[in-house]
Amino acid sequence: MTVLHAIYLVVGALVCVFLELLAISSLREDQLRAATISSTLFIFFALIWFGGYFVLSPPDTILTLFSVLAVVFFVLYFAPLGSNREIRIGSITERFDERDVIFSREEYLPETAEYIRYYAMKPEYKEIDDRMRKLPELLEPGGRFYDAEVSGRIDAVFRQIEKLTTAVDGETSGQCREIDAVAMTHTIKQMVRDLGADEVGIAVLNPMFVYSHVGRGPEKWSAPIINNHRFAVAFTVEMRYAAVSAAPLLPITEETADRYLRAARISIELADHIRALGYPARAHISGSNYQIILPPVAHDAGLGELGRHGYLISPKFGPRIRLGAVTTDLPLVADKPVSFGVQNFCARCLKCAVNCPAGAIPAAGKTEVRGVEKWPLNPEQCFHYWRVIGTDCGLCMKVCPYSHPPTFVHNAVRAAIRRSSFARRFSIWADDLLYGKKPPLPRP
Ligand code: SF4
Ligand code: SF4
Repeated sequence: MTVLHAIYLVVGALVCVFLELLAISSLREDQLRAATISSTLFIFFALIWFGGYFVLSPPDTILTLFSVLAVVFFVLYFAPLGSNREIRIGSITERFDERDVIFSREEYLPETAEYIRYYAMKPEYKEIDDRMRKLPELLEPGGRFYDAEVSGRIDAVFRQIEKLTTAVDGETSGQCREIDAVAMTHTIKQMVRDLGADEVGIAVLNPMFVYSHVGRGPEKWSAPIINNHRFAVAFTVEMRYAAVSAAPLLPITEETADRYLRAARISIELADHIRALGYPARAHISGSNYQIILPPVAHDAGLGELGRHGYLISPKFGPRIRLGAVTTDLPLVADKPVSFGVQNFCARCLKCAVNCPAGAIPAAGKTEVRGVEKWPLNPEQCFHYWRVIGTDCGLCMKVCPYSHPPTFVHNAVRAAIRRSSFARRFSIWADDLLYGKKPPLPRP
């Protein structure tokens, strides 16, 4: 056998192995369409490549052509071709007001002092918010996917989180000891992982990512927020793929609640530990107790990039994560933001925008929002849809190509799109082929 024949056979075997692994991992992920297509491709490819070789004994020129085409494809797919765009953060001159967050606004009930004061200040939101308030509340009867038992269970988890909101801060031990920042960073990161987080990073806290005024939660509404901590310890908690795949049905909301509770417990325990070391620390948890805007802080901590749908996309889990954070003055060593091709990929992909039933995700290019270049999500349209269906939707998270679980096959694709612009174009096309450009909604 000549070298040419060996190359031809090895290339064919590699493609077959990849297609077969794809079929197996798709079956495990319950992605029947992807499993069927990859199995069919496997059979056709094997018949043509190996059947042609052993039955027709083609001339060397044909073998050379096929081998060269396959190798060129492989090189284009995995070679570092093209640069990665980074998120451009200009000069941010104004902090975001938590009172403007849609989750705060839904709580301003007519006739209350908050309602009167807020809409006197922001009359432009009154009509749209009044319309939203007429819809059933999340997890309440009247939502399209309401289920008394499951919705009640999820509500109970959110109530647990709510109870934790008073435990986010406290006094320090008063025994502030000398700290080696490098060693402490290692210890804190390990502790956060041991407590149940999946990824952890440290950011220098950008004061512009601290909300300006309290919008909800146990603290006094409208009070100015003062948080001068130097660092934020940010972390991710993975959401299970099966639960996210059920979006927009209740299992994704159940998963969201469960992961928020886990993130809350991790942050509270970490903050408590840091205060015992003598340094101030505050946990930022769901249930209306954030003082900071988590996605950009987590970006600064090197945990991922912001995607078109507004979620942070982690290199390992994509947007299938919930975030938590503790801000502190404990001496630490900060990480750096990472760039792994998300901005380039999102510029072409558009899958979340195409699948968003509320039309809340822009299909157009980025715009500058308060100094940060991003795809501006329409929170009113998104949240309005949540209240119609009674869950937190999550369709954009589900269809995002970065959401696939970190198996060998998906990791190989991630490694390629991290560096090759050809791989990005091809993978967007392949994702649509395997999983559908607009997958049908699951039935309740
Ligand atoms: S959660 Fe649903 S409604 Fe909101 S942006 Fe995503 S897909 Fe659209
Ligand atoms: S679905 Fe596509 S465009 Fe939307 S965030 Fe994910 S990769 Fe970006």
